[in-house]
Amino acid sequence: MLMIGLDIGGTKIEAQLALIESTSGNQSIPIATTQQKLYLTVLAKMRRPTQRQQGYSAVMANISLLIKDLLEQQQLQLQELAGIGVGLPGTIDPASSTMLNGNSQIFIHQPFARDLQQHLGTDLPVHCTNDANLFTLAEVYGGVGPKYAQQFNRPISCHTAVGLILGTGVGGGVILSGEVLLGRFGGGAEVGHTTLVNNGEPCYCGRQGCAECYLSGTGLERNYQNITGQSLKGAEIFQQADSKVKAAVDTVTTYRQHLQQFLLNLTNTFDPDYFVLGGGISLQPAIYQGVEAFLKEQSFVPNSAPKVYQHQLGDSAGGSGAVIFCAEKECLT
Ligand SMILES: [Zn+2]
Repeated sequence: MLMIGLDIGGTKIEAQLALIESTSGNQSIPIATTQQKLYLTVLAKMRRPTQRQQGYSAVMANISLLIKDLLEQQQLQLQELAGIGVGLPGTIDPASSTMLNGNSQIFIHQPFARDLQQHLGTDLPVHCTNDANLFTLAEVYGGVGPKYAQQFNRPISCHTAVGLILGTGVGGGVILSGEVLLGRFGGGAEVGHTTLVNNGEPCYCGRQGCAECYLSGTGLERNYQNITGQSLKGAEIFQQADSKVKAAVDTVTTYRQHLQQFLLNLTNTFDPDYFVLGGGISLQPAIYQGVEAFLKEQSFVPNSAPKVYQHQLGDSAGGSGAVIFCAEKECLT
């Protein structure tokens, strides 16, 4: 069956058309569960800017047009789809598919699934969840998960994984035995808004010292500015640290210490097989230095030693995760 996965970010939207089938193809990702084995093949992708400054209705029209354009390009009709999976940048209530909180204000309290159906003129199933959940789901099935399964002889259906998107904010996703941890209202992995520093920097969520304030790209850049009085992009701060410029070295060292503390808290909460890191900062090798050794030494469970991986699927993981989420809802429940 055919499905579309949407990854809706603050700046861009990606739509993926994917085929879900019960036999394996060349490029397919196995979606292994205890009940059934399915395979996902991405057939086509398309991207557009989100243009959220134009408001919710314009963005919904934009998303609807993107889906129609993708289908037209592939000479398909909407009725040939079995469902649409959607990743949104915030906490999504599983019962109503509305966003309860997030930093893209335009989506908050909007009935996204119903509105997308209305814009498309269809009653196709639309399944929404948090984008970091989907990033993690895709990496567990098709990115770092298979590699870990092979190296440690542990099937994917047993994996406990924590995904973190270290980008403009800090998104979190937790996968337990192949399934997304949602919690009561979909906020089961909003780890970016747990306290990392008591009475620390103010967060947009209204609290102080959230992990997001220190581990996002924005947080890193603010910390550098606090030290130097100058503003510099995250990638340049890492470059300067490589060149041993003191302020940049100090900024990166502080960042790494905060990251280690944060991952230790999560290790003592979830006891994961592995972490998978995404977002712009995850591309910097400096953040991984010494982190696995620190977790092995400090975790409450003696010698619990989660691996800390950089993502493997690039920035298309969210769209693939949206298809997997939709397939889990439509085919496996
Ligand atoms: Zn916060």
